[in-house]
Amino acid sequence: MKIKFLGTGTSQGIPVIGCECLVCKSKKKEDKRLRSSAILQISKKNILIDTGPDLRQQSLKNNINRIDYVLYTHAHRDHVSGIDELRSFNFIQKKEIKAFGNRELVNQLRKDYSYIFSDLKYPGLPDIELNTVEKNFYIENVKVIPIKVKHYKLNILGYRIKDLTYITDAKTINKHELKKINGSKILVINCLQIKEHLSHLNLKEMLNLVSNIDVGKVYLTHISHNLGLHDEVNKKLPKNIELAYDNLELSL
Ligand SMILES: [Zn+2]
Ligand SMILES: [Zn+2]
Ligand SMILES: [Zn+2]
Repeated sequence: MKIKFLGTGTSQGIPVIGCECLVCKSKKKEDKRLRSSAILQISKKNILIDTGPDLRQQSLKNNINRIDYVLYTHAHRDHVSGIDELRSFNFIQKKEIKAFGNRELVNQLRKDYSYIFSDLKYPGLPDIELNTVEKNFYIENVKVIPIKVKHYKLNILGYRIKDLTYITDAKTINKHELKKINGSKILVINCLQIKEHLSHLNLKEMLNLVSNIDVGKVYLTHISHNLGLHDEVNKKLPKNIELAYDNLELSL
């Protein structure tokens, strides 16, 4: 199984439009972050996590020409607004793409993108089969475990597939859900900035959360320019934790 990070930035991405800070002005590729998304490859199938606003650019940059499934975390614009780009994959594959998310996500997408999900379909629209998931389910005989996390008051999902857990936009995770992460070889988790934030884990909260679970390597995503320069932040993190960056690929 492989995971490739397509984007590791928070909702504005890095650089932030018009920002003159050190991180936004950095020339290093690791300091340039598109909106958070990743692609998993399992038995030759491509599973995309979220369809953010940079999906077109991310697909072209990484030569992605097939998407078999989409796992949605939640319906905020930085995670869904590239949904129309799925059309390009429909045109190639000539069939619908199966997407998964919790009830909140499914209801929100049906409402916000009603033209896609209405019974009267305009030709050329994305062809997506939306599935509500609450419990474990299977993709290509591989078990997918939804992990329920809180994004301030919003119920959103992370996912565990084999030894990989991917969670973004979490603020809190209860004990019962935390147990589902235990034993993961790789945990991807959001870490926004140093300062506290209403709906996202900050650095201190992320460290505290990770210290309560048994995981191998931890990669941070959904990063804001306020967290600092990639190399500088990495130096200060514990050995098993590091910042992910766009186009980083891991095998497990
Ligand atoms: Zn987000
Ligand atoms: Zn900046
Ligand atoms: Zn969000």
